[in-house]
Amino acid sequence: MTRAAGRPDDGPVPVRLEVDMDYVQRVLLHLLRIPSPTGRTDEAVQYIGEEIRALGMDLIVTRRGLLNAVLPGLRARPDRAIAVHADTIGCMVTRLKDNGRLEVTQVGTHSARFAEGARVTIFTDDAHRTYTGTVLPLKASGHQYGDEVDTQGVGWPIVEVRVDERVHDADGLRELGLQVGDHVALDANPVITPSGFVVSRHLDDKAGVAAALGAFKAVLDAGVVPMVGAHLLVTIAEEVGHGATHGLDKDVAEMIAVDNAVVAPGQQSREDCVNIAMLDMTGPFDYHFSRKLLALAQDHGVPHTRDTYRHYRSDAASAVEAGLEMRTALVGFGVDSSHGHERTHLESVQAVAELLALYLQTDLTFPEWDRDERGPLEDFPSRSVQPVVLHDPARVHEPHGPHEATDAQLDEAEAHPT
Ligand SMILES: [Zn+2]
Repeated sequence: MTRAAGRPDDGPVPVRLEVDMDYVQRVLLHLLRIPSPTGRTDEAVQYIGEEIRALGMDLIVTRRGLLNAVLPGLRARPDRAIAVHADTIGCMVTRLKDNGRLEVTQVGTHSARFAEGARVTIFTDDAHRTYTGTVLPLKASGHQYGDEVDTQGVGWPIVEVRVDERVHDADGLRELGLQVGDHVALDANPVITPSGFVVSRHLDDKAGVAAALGAFKAVLDAGVVPMVGAHLLVTIAEEVGHGATHGLDKDVAEMIAVDNAVVAPGQQSREDCVNIAMLDMTGPFDYHFSRKLLALAQDHGVPHTRDTYRHYRSDAASAVEAGLEMRTALVGFGVDSSHGHERTHLESVQAVAELLALYLQTDLTFPEWDRDERGPLEDFPSRSVQPVVLHDPARVHEPHGPHEATDAQLDEAEAHPT
C-alpha cells in the first residue's frame, strides 16, 4: 500500500484570519527598544517569553537562553516550527584608545558605513552602568579635514565610538568601567510614519518576531486547534550563523524561518507583501514546502512574491546544517537597506502574519509521508511533481506520475536498451 499523497496538503481547509495589527505594532515597538545584539539577548528573550505566555502558550527556555513555545495540535506527532531570532547585529569593544574613544568590531556581518552616525548604548559588566555614544569615522569633521572626510574609506578599523562622558584617554575609559569585550548596541530609534512605514534599525528580525506572535495570536483568538502541533522557536545567535542549531525536538517535520526579505534593485521582494524565498546562499529551499506556501498565499489572496537571495542565510540553514531532518522554507517582510538604515511597511508585516496564520491551520506538506523521518522508496511522494524517467525497459510500463508512457516512448526504450 502506498502512503504517498497525490498532492501536498490534503488536510483541513485553512481560513484567512484577522491579524491584530495594534498588538503587532505594540510588540514590535517595545521589542525594538530593547537592545539585543548577539551575545546579550536575555532581556529581549525575557520580554518575548512574557508576551508568549500572555497568549496562553507554554514555553521552555534552553540553557543558553533560546525560547521554544508550543501550540498543541490534535495529532500527537510530529510537530512543525516557526523560527524567528531575537538577536540583532551589534558591536563589541576591541580596544580602549589613547584618545579616550572606543575601537569596536562588528558582531554579525554589517558595514561600518551604515554604522557611522549611529547612536549606541555601551554595556559594562555592571548591569546598572550603561553609557551612550556615537559611532564616528576617524575623520569626522569637514571643518578640520576638508575633502578628506569624503576620501577616507570605509571599515571597522577607521571608525570609533565617542562616549558621551568627560573622558580623554584610555585610563579615563577604564575608570568608567569600560573594558575590551563590552557589548555595544546600535540604538534602533524606531518610527512608524503616517504612511505606514516602519523606519528603524533591527527590523531584522524584530518585525519577524512581532509577525509570528501576531500569527499565533490570530489562531488562538479564533479558537482554532490545529492538526499539527506548532513550535515558536526564538533563537539568539542567528546573526553569527548558528541560530536554530538546537532547541527543537527531533520530531519536527518542517520549519519556516521568518526573517527579512531583501528589497534592493534587481530583487523581486517588496515592502508591501510577504516574500517567499526560493533560494539563498545555502541553496534552494524545500521544493514542495515552498510551493505549498506560495499556493496558500495565492488561494487566500495574501499579497506575495517569490525571490532569491545571494548574500543571505537564516535560521533555516543552521537547522539543516545541524542535522535536523526537516523541510525548511523562508518567508520574509520586505526590508529596504537591510543591516543598515532599515525600513519596512506594516502591510508586509501583516501579510507575513496572515500567511503564517494560514500555514498553522494546515496539515504537514505530505501528511502521511512526512510523519516519519524515513520510509520506503515506493512511498516517496516526489514523483507526483518530478516524474521519474525510467531507463530500464523492463520497468518502463510503470506510470510516470500523472503521465503514462506513450507507445512512441515504449518503442524508443526498447530500441535503445541501457
Ligand atoms: Zn535576520
